[in-house]
Amino acid sequence: MIKENLAYVENEIQEACRRAGRAREEVTLIAVSKTKPVSDLKEAYDLGIRVFGENKVQELVDKYEVLPKDIRWHMIGHLQRNKVKYIIDKVDLIHSVDSVRLAETIEKEAAKHEIVVNILIEVNVAREESKFGLMPEDLDDFIRQTAGFTHIRIKGLMTIAPFVENAEENRPIFERLRKLSVDMRGENVDNNTVCILSMGMTNDYCVAIEEGATMIRVGTGIFGARDYSLPGEVR
Ligand SMILES: *Cc1c(COP(=O)(O)O)cnc(C)c1O
Repeated sequence: MIKENLAYVENEIQEACRRAGRAREEVTLIAVSKTKPVSDLKEAYDLGIRVFGENKVQELVDKYEVLPKDIRWHMIGHLQRNKVKYIIDKVDLIHSVDSVRLAETIEKEAAKHEIVVNILIEVNVAREESKFGLMPEDLDDFIRQTAGFTHIRIKGLMTIAPFVENAEENRPIFERLRKLSVDMRGENVDNNTVCILSMGMTNDYCVAIEEGATMIRVGTGIFGARDYSLPGEVR
C-alpha cells in the first residue's frame, strides 16, 4: 500500500507544482512516520524515501539506531528542552523551535558537539490555543534575541495549519507564513538562509505547495491512518 500511496502523493505534488509554475525540485516531501513500525519506514526507504519526520524524541532515536545512516531525520514535534541532548547530533532539521529558551538549549548542546544545527521557527499563524509556536508578532523579538547564536542556523518557518474539511480554508494561513518569511528576509537575518517554508500535511499539501511550501509533511497519505490504540505503541 505504501508504494501506491507514494505514487499517488508524488503525482499530486507534481500536479500542484505544475499549477503553481514551480519546479518539482523546489518541494521536499517529508515522510511523517510517527507511530509507524520500522518495517514501514524500511519499505518507504526501499522506494527511495530518505527524509523522515518524527515527533517524539525516544521514537526518533529508536528508529535512528536501526535504520540506514543516509536517512535525514526531521524533528517535527514539540521539543522539551531536557530532551534536546538526545537528538542534537541525529537530526538534519528541527522544525518545531517555538521559544528563545529552546533555541538557547539547542545552541548550548550544539556547541558541545561543535556542530551547527539547522532549525525552523514554528509559528502559530492560526493562533490556535491548543498549538505550540510563536505568535507572528513575536518573530522579530525571537530573531533579535537569537542573533548572536553561532551554533544554530535559522533556515525558515514552519506552521501547523488547523484541521479543516476543505483545504482551501487553509490557503490564507499558508499565504501568511510565506509573507512572514519574506518580511524576515528584509530583517537583518542572513539573506539567503531564510528560505524553507515547512507547511502542508496530508489534507492540504497541494494548497500549501501552491502557496510556496518548500517542505511538506505527509504522514497518513503515505503510511495510512495512525492507530494510537495499539498496546505499547510509541506515539
Ligand atoms: C503528524 C504530523 C504531520 C503529518 O500529518 P498527516 O495529516 O498524517 O499527514 C505533519 N506535521 C506534524 C507537525 C505532525 O505532527
